[in-house]
Amino acid sequence: MEELKKEIATKSRTMEIMERFDLHTKKVFGQNFLTEPGIVRKIADECILNENSCAIEIGPGIGALTEQLAKRAGKVMAFEIDERLKEVLPYSLVDYDNVEVRFEDFLNVDVKSVVDDIQKEYSDVMVAANLPYYITTPLLFKIFESEADINRIVVMMQKEVADRFAATPNSKDYNALSIITQYLYDVRIVLKVSRNVFEPKPNVDSSVVEFKKKKDIIPVDNQQAFFNLVKACFDQRRKTMLNNYGKYLNDKEKAKSQLAKAGIEESRRAESLTLQDFIKLYEVYANERNS
Ligand code: SAM
Repeated sequence: MEELKKEIATKSRTMEIMERFDLHTKKVFGQNFLTEPGIVRKIADECILNENSCAIEIGPGIGALTEQLAKRAGKVMAFEIDERLKEVLPYSLVDYDNVEVRFEDFLNVDVKSVVDDIQKEYSDVMVAANLPYYITTPLLFKIFESEADINRIVVMMQKEVADRFAATPNSKDYNALSIITQYLYDVRIVLKVSRNVFEPKPNVDSSVVEFKKKKDIIPVDNQQAFFNLVKACFDQRRKTMLNNYGKYLNDKEKAKSQLAKAGIEESRRAESLTLQDFIKLYEVYANERNS
């Protein structure tokens, strides 16, 4: 009788695969492989997949999460930067015929066209990953700004970065990233994960975060211009809105009058403003720019 294979995420199977291919993890690619099957299964469960779903995975590594996604979804399309894994993944994922791996830097992928293609066959497209920590924010913003029809994103990242995505006004973690993200998505920290379940062990703990596309996004005339305004208001965190916004407009008097019209006291700091405050300010800004 054929021996039942252990999940890739077990320590023993991970070691067996790495030794077989003489694979040593590369720091430049942010390679910290998950070696705790219970956590990997939990992440895959949070992805809420079925046969109509396609999970896009960023960075499959040796396939620990890919395997659990493949068990639950109609298809997994994985993007991996490390070409050494070209010989490893067909071996580790030999039992799954619904996985396609593309060896590409995800930062160079045309996300919208990939998603449009997938949707010809799968009605539900989502993104799952244990992200390489060195480029968590650029990778996520690549997706956020792609305008691709992605319903949800379930990803693991450094705990401190997760806290920023989920932060609320007046907390130390609240910044432009929190506002821009929460404009587009409902953000929820799903799970905290200890650094001890990775090979090699990173210097930080992690969190799994779910981003669920909002159904009621308040439209603005130019999303990028709105994001730029938000970023400018946080330019110098300790300074007042009058200071940062005045610098952005290059006109303090204009900033004073626009802040008053938006009902925002000029002495406030950006960190105390809600998403609604920023939208109000942007509307005043856009109105005057267009008039
Ligand atoms: N998914 C595996 C796991 O959970 O064990 C590996 C996760 S590891 C933290 C990050 C993975 O992303 C590595 O396999 C790494 O080679 C890959 N990676 C790093 N930068 C990438 C990029 N720009 N595009 C695609 N994959 C990338």
